[in-house]
Amino acid sequence: MMSSRYEHRPVAIIGAGPAGYTAAVYAARANLHPLVIRGPEPGGQLMMTTDVENFPGFPQGILGPELMDIFEQQAARFGTERRFGIVTHVNFDKWPFVLTIDGKDLLYTDTAIIATGATHRYLGIDGEKQLMGRGVSVCATCDGAFFKDVPVAVVGGGDTAAQNALLLSRTASHVYLIHRRDRLRASQIMQKRLFAHDRITIVWNTIVRDILGQSEVEALQLENVASGKASALDTKGLFISIGHKPNTDVFKGCLELDDKGYIVTAPDSTRTSVPGIFACGDVQDRVYRQAVTAAGTGCMAAIDAERWLTSKNNHSLVELSESEFARIYSL
Ligand code: NDP
Repeated sequence: MMSSRYEHRPVAIIGAGPAGYTAAVYAARANLHPLVIRGPEPGGQLMMTTDVENFPGFPQGILGPELMDIFEQQAARFGTERRFGIVTHVNFDKWPFVLTIDGKDLLYTDTAIIATGATHRYLGIDGEKQLMGRGVSVCATCDGAFFKDVPVAVVGGGDTAAQNALLLSRTASHVYLIHRRDRLRASQIMQKRLFAHDRITIVWNTIVRDILGQSEVEALQLENVASGKASALDTKGLFISIGHKPNTDVFKGCLELDDKGYIVTAPDSTRTSVPGIFACGDVQDRVYRQAVTAAGTGCMAAIDAERWLTSKNNHSLVELSESEFARIYSL
């Protein structure tokens, strides 16, 4: 039997960060009536950031949550609808595609734009979340300038940690790169730069046990995993740089993902391995991961989706009757 609780759209946008809302602005202005599905962290990573000073158009800077509010307002102004919900299942084998939201609601859509972002990995220690934005940060590009002439620490041993340490060394008085092993994962060229830098010290075989400070970071409690010895490190900042996890669990087996779980897109495009499904922002970007690049690819995804729909002769399912739906989906 046909369910009466079906809904279908020309464009569904999964994710409500800079990529998703920029895609929404473009899709709405192209008359595609997009629906943005706001997932578990609406607004994305910017909601965890304080001042954003590197987003063009805001010469005085802007708070991350305020910027996301503006993104949402702009998308809404052109008629974008938003709903809360988590996409729990997708079926990209048939067209129109089917998204299951919160395990119960079915959304049929002619195209989908995936903008689910990536989640920073965290250490899982006390103080990490409470002192976020007050010394703890996951973005050296965003927050590094606030740590002028004070010592800072970076935790991690990959290219992001190396890049962050080098970036922070331009402003901080000293940078401590804390790594849990005795060798770095970062590329050789980055390692060479780190080792040559006289204001970067690598603290080997060490983990951060605790972050000390009530209202801001004052020091770190460290532990050498080889000797078991504990020590304290005075620092004003802790930049957690232990990798990201793209939010793609629900797409496994439905779309091509790379070895780290990022959605693979075609060069110079937001096309994924399934025609009609597009991806933008951090969910497909393992290199730049900036709000402005996410917004840029969000724009690309909406344009790609619109062109794809046009190439299908504007065959919008909005015009399908319930009985036609039932025939396609054997409901
Ligand atoms: P990676 O996964 O490469 O590195 C993560 C690092 O964090 C590893 O050193 C890992 O340690 C450490 N780590 C993971 N979990 C913990 C934990 N719980 N506690 C302490 N340490 C932990 O992530 P990156 O973000 O550095 O890089 C991701 C990808 O992006 C890579 O392919 C990288 O090359 C690329 N990239 C490229 C750049 C460039 O070309 N300029 C810049 C930035 C990233 P361990 O080594 O022991 O596993």
